[in-house]
Amino acid sequence: MTFDTPRQEPCVASEAARQVAPTDLPGSQQTPLGERAPLGKILTRAVEVNLTAHCNLSCYGCDHASPARDEEYLSVEGLAADLAALSDVYHVFEFFLTGGEPLLHPRLVEVIDTIRDSGVAEKIAVVTNGALLHKAPAGLWERIDKLWVSLYPGVKRKLSEDEIRQQAERSGVLLHLKVTDEFTNKLLHSENEDPELVASIYSTCTLRGSCHTIHDGRFFKCSPSPFVPEWVRRVGLEVSDFSGDSVPLRNNPDLRRQLLEYLKDDRPLTACRFCLGCVGKPVRSRQMNKKAVREWLSERDPDTRELVDWPALDVARARLEGVDLSGVVRTMRGLKARWRAVWWTRRITGIDLTGSPPTGLGARLRALGSAWLGPRRDGSRAGRGRPSPS
Ligand code: SF4
Ligand code: SF4
Repeated sequence: MTFDTPRQEPCVASEAARQVAPTDLPGSQQTPLGERAPLGKILTRAVEVNLTAHCNLSCYGCDHASPARDEEYLSVEGLAADLAALSDVYHVFEFFLTGGEPLLHPRLVEVIDTIRDSGVAEKIAVVTNGALLHKAPAGLWERIDKLWVSLYPGVKRKLSEDEIRQQAERSGVLLHLKVTDEFTNKLLHSENEDPELVASIYSTCTLRGSCHTIHDGRFFKCSPSPFVPEWVRRVGLEVSDFSGDSVPLRNNPDLRRQLLEYLKDDRPLTACRFCLGCVGKPVRSRQMNKKAVREWLSERDPDTRELVDWPALDVARARLEGVDLSGVVRTMRGLKARWRAVWWTRRITGIDLTGSPPTGLGARLRALGSAWLGPRRDGSRAGRGRPSPS
C-alpha cells in the first residue's frame, strides 16, 4: 500500500459492514471466513498495519520514529490491494491497527471494514495511546474485537480508564490497558558492526513472530523494520540496501513460497544492524517537544554493546532456545483457546493475562501461564512498555 498525503474527507462506513455477524466466541466479531479451515494457507499469530506515520504524541524512544515523521496516512485502496493479494495464501489470528496513532486516520472505520471483508483475519484490534478515544468515529467500538490502550505518564485523556472500561464492556470488546512508563530502546543512532551481536539480538527478537507488518505493498517480519530506512536517513547514517528485508505482495505469483521462506529465515535483516530488538536497555517514557526531537535525532550512540541489556539477553537466550519465533502456526485452535481463556479470566476475575499485571497475583498467574500462553506479543518484560507504538 502507499501512504496518502493528508485527507480531509469524513469517514464513510458501508451499511453492509455494520451488520455484525453472529459470534462463535464471546467478544468476537466473526470474519466472513469464520470457522472454515483456510486450507493450504500460511497461518500466523498476528500482523499489523500502520494507519499513520505521525502521531499526536511524541514519545522518546518510539520505535516507529513517529515524532520525527511527517503527516502521512495509509491508503485504504492500497491496503485492499495488499489484502487481496495476501488472502489467497495467508490467514492470521489477530490483525492490529497501529501507527503512529490510528485514531488520527479519517477513514479508520473503512480500514476495519476492508480488513473484515478480506476475510484474512479472525480478530481485529486497535492499538492506541487513548488520547483521542473520546473522538472515536461512530461504529468503531462495534467493529473491533480488542482495544489496546497504552497509558503514558503525563498524557491527559478525556475518557477516564473507568469510562473506557464501561464502553468496552458495552461493546463486547476485549480491553487491555497498559501502563507504559518505559520503552525497551530499539533504534540505534549508529550501525551495529558486530555481526555476532546482530545475530544474538535477532535470535532473541520475539517481534519477528508477533509483529509482522503489512506496509507499503510489502510484508515485513517485524514492526520496526519498515521504519528503519527512514530512521537511518534522518539520523544521518549511510543508507543501506533494505530491499531484502521484506516480501512484495502484489503481482507476486510466488508469494506463498517466498513468504514462508522469509518468515522461517534465521538470518537477520539488514534493519537488525540498526536495532536492539527486545534486549535494549530500558528508557523512561517521556514526551518530547520539537527541540527534544531534534536532539533525539542528533544523538550519538556509545558502543552498541553498552546499550544492550545483557542479563535480559541471557534470559531470552535460555528461554527461547529451540522456540520457533517465526509466528507461523499449524492451526488456529490454540490461539482461539487462548482468546477464550483471556476473555473469561478477564470477565470473571478482572485479571488481564495479555499484558503487565496490576497485582502480584497477576504476575504469578502470568508466570504460571506463560508456558502455554506463549511468548508475549511485544517481547517486552513485565513493567516495560509495549515497544511497538502506539
Ligand atoms: S532486531 Fe529489530 S529489525 Fe531485527 S527483527 Fe527484531 S525488531 Fe526487527
Ligand atoms: S510510542 Fe506510540 S504514542 Fe508514542 S509517539 Fe510513538 S506512536 Fe505515538
